[in-house]
Amino acid sequence: MLGKNVFTSGIVTKKSSMKMLSIFSKVIRGNPAPIIEVEGITKNGDLIPYELRAVPLFKNKKVVAAQAILRNLTERKENQHALAKSKRKYREIFNRSRDGFVMVDATGQIIDANESYCKMLGFTLDELKNLQDFYEITPEKWREWEQNEIWNNRLLKQGYSGRYEKEYIKKDGAIIPIELESYLVRDNKGNIDYLWGVARDITERKNDEKERELHLKEMNLITDVVVHASRMQDIDKLCNYVGKTIHSLNENSYVAISLYDPKAERIRIRALCGFESVSDLLNTLFKDSPVKNVVNLSKIQKDSQLYLSGQLRPVPGGLYAIMADTLSKEKCREVEKLLGITAIYRVGLSLNKKPFGSISILLKQGEKIHFKSAIETIANHFSVIIHEKQAEVKVKKSREQFQNLFDNLRDGVFVHSLLPGNRPGPFEQTNKAASTILGYSPEEFKEMSPWDLDDPDSSKEYIPKVMEQLKENGEAVFEAVQVAKDGRKIPVEVNASLIEYDEKQSIISVTRDISKRKKTEWKLRKNEERLRESERNLKQAQKLAKLGRWDYIHGEDKLVWNEMIYDIFEINPASFDATYESFLATIHPDDRKKVNDTWKKSLQDKDSYTIEHRLLLKDNRVKWVKEKCRTEFDERGNPVHSTGIVQDITDQKQAEERLKKAHVKLKKMNQTLEKKVHERTSEVQRLLKQKDEFINQLGHDLKNPLGPFLQLLPILENHVSNEKDKRMIQVLHRNANYMRNLVKKTIDLAKLNSSKTKFIFEDVSLGDIVDEVISVNVSLFEDNGVIVENNVSTDCLVHVDPLHIEEVFTNLFNNAVKYSTDEQWIGIDAFEKDNCVIVSVQDKGIGISNEQLPFLFDEYYKADSSRHDFDSSGLGLPICKRIIEKHGGKIWAESKGIGEGSTFYFTLPRSDNMS
Ligand code: ADP
Repeated sequence: MLGKNVFTSGIVTKKSSMKMLSIFSKVIRGNPAPIIEVEGITKNGDLIPYELRAVPLFKNKKVVAAQAILRNLTERKENQHALAKSKRKYREIFNRSRDGFVMVDATGQIIDANESYCKMLGFTLDELKNLQDFYEITPEKWREWEQNEIWNNRLLKQGYSGRYEKEYIKKDGAIIPIELESYLVRDNKGNIDYLWGVARDITERKNDEKERELHLKEMNLITDVVVHASRMQDIDKLCNYVGKTIHSLNENSYVAISLYDPKAERIRIRALCGFESVSDLLNTLFKDSPVKNVVNLSKIQKDSQLYLSGQLRPVPGGLYAIMADTLSKEKCREVEKLLGITAIYRVGLSLNKKPFGSISILLKQGEKIHFKSAIETIANHFSVIIHEKQAEVKVKKSREQFQNLFDNLRDGVFVHSLLPGNRPGPFEQTNKAASTILGYSPEEFKEMSPWDLDDPDSSKEYIPKVMEQLKENGEAVFEAVQVAKDGRKIPVEVNASLIEYDEKQSIISVTRDISKRKKTEWKLRKNEERLRESERNLKQAQKLAKLGRWDYIHGEDKLVWNEMIYDIFEINPASFDATYESFLATIHPDDRKKVNDTWKKSLQDKDSYTIEHRLLLKDNRVKWVKEKCRTEFDERGNPVHSTGIVQDITDQKQAEERLKKAHVKLKKMNQTLEKKVHERTSEVQRLLKQKDEFINQLGHDLKNPLGPFLQLLPILENHVSNEKDKRMIQVLHRNANYMRNLVKKTIDLAKLNSSKTKFIFEDVSLGDIVDEVISVNVSLFEDNGVIVENNVSTDCLVHVDPLHIEEVFTNLFNNAVKYSTDEQWIGIDAFEKDNCVIVSVQDKGIGISNEQLPFLFDEYYKADSSRHDFDSSGLGLPICKRIIEKHGGKIWAESKGIGEGSTFYFTLPRSDNMS
């Protein structure tokens, strides 16, 4: 470019070269020149904006030339352009937005606002700018909160308020709800520059929400009424229920429901709700009514059903009224005044465009009708429900249905006309079941009337009552007794209705055989009583047992506890957020996993469970509870609802713990005791055995050397002639005899104790045994002049070892002889008792004192009288005792005292073969 003429070379546009020329000439002349913009042309022909600054070049302090400094402005130009464009765009948004935009300075004064904002508040922009500050458009109640929360807490701290709701005051004073969002803008130095906010009028949304809420409430109400009412059978109850519901919507109102009664061709008020002085009201309302048929006015109470006549006339708007006709407008006003009523709101009930009743609401002064639409909807539903109820009756009456019903019924059906004087005419129609049950053919029935069927004993009582009911209600249900053709009496339940049959007033009765029911009825009643009783007990028990109950709704994590659980867990319901997690937190940390695992497992296995665990209370106390839980699952197997029972078992646990400790202690003591007893027993057994062995040994050792004495002493006695020597040898002989006797008995006793001695049991006649012993000892008895009386029958069979029992008798006989002095008599008796035989051996001897009795059966015991007797060993009775014991029996003695004789008793096992 060097050496080229700038102005003619085409590197700047012509216009620019003209500008440059004028600048340069200024500089050369020594004048200051402004910075200008020029446009250069590139080799490709593109235009580039430059900033051009011209400076003089000096030589010897004289300007000789001008120098140009160029700066490419392309980028800056583009930026400026974009900025302008975006500014325009934002201004556009600002102006066109349906949201209100506002700019407020640091003092709270409005600097700028868009059109929407102005419109929203009803001010012009200038008016807004002239307001003191934006608090003037903020209701008092928001100011402090906005200052603290929005300004101090949010805007100053984070620069952004977040979206919030508040209210504005419009120019006309109206208050509107708005949604606001504001930002704080600071300058380079960080000072508050301005605040800008976006505001939206949310009146509509708020109204929507309210409406939705209201709508929902209405829907619930309507559903409630419809569901309840459709289940009700009694039309009066139904009216009363609907009336009460509507009354509850408008608490300070009166509600009257009236229905058309086709039979009476009248409108009847079927329900009145909220009336405080009904008679006043009605008397006044119907003062001028042409039909003043107000029934039982004196009996009217607040909720009673009331029947009242009037005429139904349609009123404009598809509504029907009973009063429009009967009461003048002025009269209405008067009544309103009198009752403090301002308006009468009436919803007509109609079906198929025919009016049949109305719901009237009388409002107190100053009250508004609430839930207008709900009342209208309820009225509609109510119409349908009433229609259905009436239709049901109609259907019953319909011939076709009737016929069908008639033939297929298992109950007996009878139709007969009603003759003057309430007398029943002959049966006009009966069904198959009637014939089957009672045994009459349809033709036979045609010749009969109900009076021929009813049991004359019981029918007198109920027939008049039934007729009265029929006339009043058109139907009657009662129990009766019918007599079948074969004379059987059948208890039946009769359902009788008045109908038009072949254009005659007739009665149709449906009878059901209730003989079975009668029987089960009292059973059922009993069961019910029992059930109620057990339910009562259960409730009582739950209370006493401190049973808590919880319900858990899966999916919502909603846990509902009854009062008792809060009591058990010692938690205040108000401060507890009942979820599964918060429940877990109340459990003792050591048990938490166990409880959680059990719960999870039960859900997995779809099984119920019972668990005992601890609770850790706030004050670190520990409680024990027992929980039982059951879960219901939906068809896909997902848990829906769990129910649990919780019982405080702390006391029980503590008692168990104490019991356990006591048990361990006791067990230890027992073991020690057992061990000791065992040791002692074996010691005693060992000693006893030793004793027996010793005695046995001693006996044999003594017996053997005695043999020669006993054999030689009589020989020696014969060889001696001296009388004195003879007596001495006789003494020796007697003593040796005694010793032999003693030794023999000692050995016998020891043998009886030894386990080696076997008893051989057999069935024998006790009478025979006694006879045998008597015959063996006959010389003993004869020598001593003893009379023996054996009273034991030979039929008395015992299961014994006969030889040993003979020994017992021998011993007892010997004693009886030995210990008798004056009267020598022995009586033997036996009688059966409890599968054994009790034997007695009685004597009239010296008797036994009370002091002696306990020792008689001790080994080597001898009473004083026989202490020095060589025939006494003191072993006879112990041997008897041992033998009897070996037979599983017992032996004892009785005596009335010294000189009074003695009786020895013992028991023996009875033979199984004894009859
Ligand atoms: P003993 O060989 O001395 O008769 P027992 O053991 O047969 O030994 O009897 C023990 C004691 O019981 C006798 O010493 C006697 O005093 C008393 N006794 C036994 N039978 C009779 C009886 N029938 N009448 C009075 N006392 C009797």
